[in-house]
Amino acid sequence: MLLLRTDPVAPAYDVINKAVEVLRRGGIVAAPTETVYGLFTHAQSDEGCLKVFKAKGRPPDNPLIVHVDSLEMAETVGHVPKDVAEVLRQVWPGPITVVIKSRGVVSPCVTAGLDTVAVRAPAHPIPQAIIRELGAPIAGPSANKAGRPSPTTAAHVIEDLDGEVDVVIDGGPTFFGVESTIIDVTKKPPLLLRPGPFTVEELERFFGPIEVPPVARGLAEADVALVPGMKYRHYAPNTPLIIVHFDLREAVETARRRGLRVAVLCALGRCAEADAVIHMGDEMYEVAKNLYKSLRDLDRLGVDVGVVAALEERGLGLTIMNRLRKAAGHREAYNLEGLLRYL
Ligand code: AMP
Ligand code: MG
Repeated sequence: MLLLRTDPVAPAYDVINKAVEVLRRGGIVAAPTETVYGLFTHAQSDEGCLKVFKAKGRPPDNPLIVHVDSLEMAETVGHVPKDVAEVLRQVWPGPITVVIKSRGVVSPCVTAGLDTVAVRAPAHPIPQAIIRELGAPIAGPSANKAGRPSPTTAAHVIEDLDGEVDVVIDGGPTFFGVESTIIDVTKKPPLLLRPGPFTVEELERFFGPIEVPPVARGLAEADVALVPGMKYRHYAPNTPLIIVHFDLREAVETARRRGLRVAVLCALGRCAEADAVIHMGDEMYEVAKNLYKSLRDLDRLGVDVGVVAALEERGLGLTIMNRLRKAAGHREAYNLEGLLRYL
């Protein structure tokens, strides 16, 4: 495994060229984007795509996102409806992924055999330079082991995938810290599949009304068995995490009275005294940026349980609550009685 460092704003040619060379021969490259670190393959390489799934331990029915450098390149991959193209001209490059009808030109491994494809143009100079030099789209999921919090630094990538990736490009911490917004524009009205940095409120300014199903709020998905007998855990720390909808201090005191060592993940000033405290930030973007790092830090504290106060599901709050619900394995307490079930 080769670890290459480069300036995220002005990436070095030799680093980009090395990545391109590896991708051309069916290798895989971890690199930052403006959202989280991605694990990339040439989008047309079956061999590279299989390596991505194997390295991550990802169920083969969970497709990857195709990353392009322009709307023109997106149109080679899938059918972009005219009205959607108008919007993409305004919002790309950026953390917004659209699901469109596939032209079947990327590897079937990338789309998991679906007749749709998820496409986005990242707003980060490193993947932009890679795609431009390669002259073809790259495909990838987040560069973490399946079920683990997404990586926002190269160190997180190495923590999960050391030795299983050909090249890791360290371009410093990512900007947003949560994965792209995914919207299915083959549906009318468009369907939100995953909330992200681009909020529903912002999307609706461009697309009109959007449907937000329970799965986009982080509800329901845990019941979908991807492997028989197994629930799909995501973004999960090893330490149990509980989302608290009532008084945080009361929740912490109750858990500690039961002899548990408790860590509090503080966001937007909602905090309490505990055995350990992780400050995620006082502003929504800061909380999003620190979220996955905080979940990884939780496991280093040696506590029995983590608690976090529920956020209002508006704007980025919807995105953060989606990730927290999955990280918490849907442990959500609305009152003391509810909490006791988890202690
Ligand atoms: P990750 O960013 O690691 O979660 O991986 C890519 C995400 O894109 C996954 O959540 C996939 O379910 C989603 N995705 C990729 N292609 C499609 C598609 N054709 N339809 C719906 N979702 C997709
Ligand atoms: Mg992921």
